Amino acid sequence: MNLNLPSPIQEIKDICLSKAGIRLYVKRDDLIHPSVSGNKWRKLKYNLSQAQQASKSIILTYGGAFSNHIYSVAAAGKVLDFSTIGIIRGEEGMATNPTLSFARSCGMKLYFVSRNDYRDKVKALDIVKESLDDCYVLPEGGTNEFALPGCGEIVEEVAEQWKGELPDYWCLSCGTGGTIAGILSAMPEEKGAVIGFSALKGDFHQNDIRQLLQVHQKNIPSHWHIQTDYHFGGYARHQPALIDFINDFKSQHQIQLDPIYTGKLFYGIFDLVKKAYFKKGTKILAIHTGGLQGIAGFNQRFGGVLK
Ligand SMILES: *Cc1c(COP(=O)(O)O)cnc(C)c1O
Repeated sequence: MNLNLPSPIQEIKDICLSKAGIRLYVKRDDLIHPSVSGNKWRKLKYNLSQAQQASKSIILTYGGAFSNHIYSVAAAGKVLDFSTIGIIRGEEGMATNPTLSFARSCGMKLYFVSRNDYRDKVKALDIVKESLDDCYVLPEGGTNEFALPGCGEIVEEVAEQWKGELPDYWCLSCGTGGTIAGILSAMPEEKGAVIGFSALKGDFHQNDIRQLLQVHQKNIPSHWHIQTDYHFGGYARHQPALIDFINDFKSQHQIQLDPIYTGKLFYGIFDLVKKAYFKKGTKILAIHTGGLQGIAGFNQRFGGVLK
């Protein structure tokens, strides 16, 4: 697979940043690969080698009908010669949306289950006709213990790109928390704070992230927290202010953000800058975790609001 690694780092120039004396950089993980994008590649990397080592021919995973993870697994499976199965939360009618059309075009076999049945991930496997012995089962969002080392490589890359000079703040969007856990697991102690901007309502992240980290190490770093003020109503919810922000950001900086994760992240960073949360002279690195495939389906549902 042709991967654009290390992903480039780019500075964002903006009057509001220069006024506050903040330097903001973006690590463009959205440019890693056209269809296996962002953190989904980072999380898949060591899972795919686990699957290979275990001689599993099928990657089986779960996701919503517009899932970035489903899209990436389907694309990676096609390139790397795995069969793929997606257990999708939703109805068969969703099969023609842009995300699932692409997944099927990559050869992914889709099974649809109701919201209720989807909740019990083990029971949901009853619907699968293939032999589970051949399947490497990957959780929703691709988050498990093997997702962490791949995400940790972000830290190693930045250290190399910046010759050891790490940022004061690492900012990234947070869904299951797998990516932030991976970054924390690779982060030298006392080397900058990490802020996860939650894309969901709720405060389960702290515990989930602690649990993920415990598999790898005894000491849990303390220099991180989850920012819960920028979910815009919850997972996959949005408001006009978010849409305007994403469109303005694109026309000003020529960088596309997605409405589910990275749009909320950058909105949050700029809002915190305006509220003088960061000290003058602070260097922030935001991770663009990708997710751009979701825009086509989003626009189809909401009338082309994203330019
Ligand atoms: C999945 C995803 C996230 C969330 O990552 P977690 O590891 O689940 O916290 C963030 N951004 C994008 C674009 C994603 O697709």
